[in-house]
Amino acid sequence: MPRKILVTSALPYANGAIHLGHLVEYIQTDIWVRFQKMQGNECWYVCADDTHGTPIMLRAEKEGVTPEALIARVHGEHFRDFTGFHVAFDNFHTTHSPETQFFANDIYGKLKAAGLIETRSIEQYFDPVKAMFLPDRFIKGECPKCGARDQYGDNCEACGAAYAPTELKNPYSAVSGAKPELRSSEHYFFRLSDSRCQAFLRRYTREEGRLQPEAANKMQEWLGEPGEDKLVDWDISRDAPYFGFEIPGESGKGTGKYFYVWMDAPIGYFGSFKNFADKKAAEGHAIDFAAFTDAAVAAAAGTELYHFIGKDILYFHALFWPAELALAGYRTPTSIFAHGFLTVDGAKMSKSRGTFITAESYLSTGLNPEWLRYYYAAKLGATMEDIDLSLDDFVARVNSDLVGKFINIASRCAGFITKRFNGQLAPANAELPAIRAIMAAAPKIANLYEGREFGKAIREIMALTDAANQYVDSVKPWELAKQECKDAELHAACSNALNIFRLLTLLLKPVLPALAGQVEQFMNIAPLTWRDAQSLLAAGHGINVYCHLMTRVDAKQIEKLVEANKESLAPTPEQGSQQRHAEHQQKEAIAASPWEPFCSIDEFGKIDLRIARIANAEHVEGAEKLLKLTLDLGTETRTVFAGIKSAYDPATLVGRLTVMVANLAPRKMKFGMSEGMVLAASDPECKTAGLFLLSPDSGAVPGMRVK
Ligand SMILES: [Zn+2]
Repeated sequence: MPRKILVTSALPYANGAIHLGHLVEYIQTDIWVRFQKMQGNECWYVCADDTHGTPIMLRAEKEGVTPEALIARVHGEHFRDFTGFHVAFDNFHTTHSPETQFFANDIYGKLKAAGLIETRSIEQYFDPVKAMFLPDRFIKGECPKCGARDQYGDNCEACGAAYAPTELKNPYSAVSGAKPELRSSEHYFFRLSDSRCQAFLRRYTREEGRLQPEAANKMQEWLGEPGEDKLVDWDISRDAPYFGFEIPGESGKGTGKYFYVWMDAPIGYFGSFKNFADKKAAEGHAIDFAAFTDAAVAAAAGTELYHFIGKDILYFHALFWPAELALAGYRTPTSIFAHGFLTVDGAKMSKSRGTFITAESYLSTGLNPEWLRYYYAAKLGATMEDIDLSLDDFVARVNSDLVGKFINIASRCAGFITKRFNGQLAPANAELPAIRAIMAAAPKIANLYEGREFGKAIREIMALTDAANQYVDSVKPWELAKQECKDAELHAACSNALNIFRLLTLLLKPVLPALAGQVEQFMNIAPLTWRDAQSLLAAGHGINVYCHLMTRVDAKQIEKLVEANKESLAPTPEQGSQQRHAEHQQKEAIAASPWEPFCSIDEFGKIDLRIARIANAEHVEGAEKLLKLTLDLGTETRTVFAGIKSAYDPATLVGRLTVMVANLAPRKMKFGMSEGMVLAASDPECKTAGLFLLSPDSGAVPGMRVK
C-alpha cells in the first residue's frame, strides 16, 4: 500500500531574495520528496511565501508600493529561484490567501471555544512619530548588561545577553529614530501554560520519532520538569497598523487586532495544501483533504505529515504549532525534521566576502544547479549539525565524482553502441559483480534516503560508481574497438556499462532530477522508479544518440560568483537605521534650539563680519577644546582661540578662508587674549552632528566685509 504523505518546507519570508543558505532546506526536502515519489508513494510537497508582519509593511512603504504588490513580486522571484534549482513543489502559494485566513480563524475559534485564548493588557514600546507599536527587532539602544550601543530590543550581539526591550538604555525606534514611549494595549494570548497544553506537549515530545534526539532534548529544556511550568502564554496578536489578518470578534466583525505573523505562517502549510486540493478537484483528481488535516480522519487514514525546518524555528514548530493543532482538533505533525545552518568556507555567509550568495546570482553566473544539489546531498545528514560549502571542495568533488566518475561511464561507452551496433544493446550480464552489487545495495540506499542520510547514500553510490569504473577499465572498450573479431565482447562490455549507468542514474535521481531526465531520454526509457533497480534493459533495446550530459565546474566561474555577490557600498539596513537615528537626534536638537527674537538691520549692522584667512592653527598646551588660530584680515592679523579642536586637525585648517566676527570685544582667556571669533554651525550640544566652519565661495579675499 502506498503511503500518503504531506511534506512542507518552511515558508520563505517575502521581503528578500532566496540565497544558498535557504536552498539547503529546499534541496533537502525536494530530494526526500522525489525519493518518496519514486517509491510510488502519494506524496505532496507544498510551500508558500510568508507574507505578513511589520517588516513587509515597512518595506512596501519604503518602496512606495502596496504590501500586496510587494509580495506578488517577491512570490514571482522566489518561484523562479526554486524552479531554477529544480525544487518541485506541488504547490507554492502565499499566506495572504483566503485559505490561510480560513484556517487561522478556524483554529483560533476552536482554541477560544476551548478556553485557551485570553486577553490581557501589556505595556509595549510605541513609536510616536510612526504612530505604531514597535516589534522587538525595531527597537534599538544600549545593552543593559554590557552597554554596547545600537543593540536590538531582544538580545545583544556584543555580549549575547537576552532581555526585554524595556530594559534597553536610551532606546530608539529603528524605524524613525524617535525615542519610543511605553503604552499599554490589549493583546490576545494562546494559553500555552494551560495544563492541557503542557500535558499534550510532554506526551508529544516523548513520542518515538516525532523529533530528532537533539530537538527532543531542547524541548525538554523548554518544558522543564512536570510542575516547573516553564511555558508561558504566547502573545498571538498585534496592533494596527499591521499587514496581516484581523482577528475575528464575537459578532463576526473584526477586533482591530491582527494575528501575529508567526500565528498564521505555519497555518499557511494547510492553506497551500487546501489551495492545491481545490485545484486538483477542479481538474477531476480528488485529494481527501481531511485525511491529511483532521485529527480523527487522519488517524483512520494513516496519513503522514512532515515539516522540514531550520533549527532556529524549532520553538515555533515543535511547541506552538503542535499544541495549537492538537487542541483545535487538527492532526499533528508525524515528525519535524530540523537541519543546521550553512557556512561558506567555514564561516558565516558574509556580504563583504561575497559568500552571501543569492540563488539568482548562482544561476545567472551559469553554474549548474545540480552541482549544488549534489554537493549539498553529499554533505547532508539527519542531524541539526551545520553544513559547510567549501568552494574549493565543491569544484573538486563535482569534477571528480559527478563528472569524472559517473558521467564518464556513459561517455566512454555510448558512442560504440550507436556507431557499431545500430544503437541496440546486447543482453546485460545480471551476474556481473558491478551489477549485482548495485541491485543488492539499492534497498539499503533507499533506507538512507528515507532516513535523510543523504551523505551516506552518496558515499554508497560513489563506491558502486568506483566499482563500475573498475569494470569498464578492465574490459577496455576503446581497445576492444580497435581489435578484429572482438565485436561481441565490445557489444557486451558497452551494454553492461550502460545498464550500470542506468542503475546508478536511478540511485542518484532524487538528487539529480534534470540529469536523470536527460539520461532517460538518451537511453530511451520510461521515467525511472525505485522498482526499476531490480531490472535490466532487454536485449535489442534501442538507445538514442549520446549528447554530453554535464560539464566540469570551472574555478573561474566560482570567482565570478563570489565577485558578483560582494556587497556594494550601499549602506546595510543596519547602517541605515543608525543613520536614521542620528538624523532624528539632530532634528530634535535643532528643534530644541529656539529662534532668537527679531533684530533690526541696524542692530545686525553693528556686527562686523569679515573674511579671514587662517594663517596658522595650533594646539594649545593644556586646552581640551581649543585651537589657537592666527587670522589674516588683509591689513592686520588677529589671534583667536576657537573651540573647534574636536572637529578639526590644525594642519588641515592652515590656508583656508573663513568668516570671523572682527569687532567682538577682546576677551582675556586662560591661554591668552582672544581677539574675535570664527563662525561655525553646530547643534546646541555639538555632540551628534559635529562642527562645521563656514567658508566663503571662491573669489572672496581676506578683509572683505560679510553682510
Ligand atoms: Zn551586551
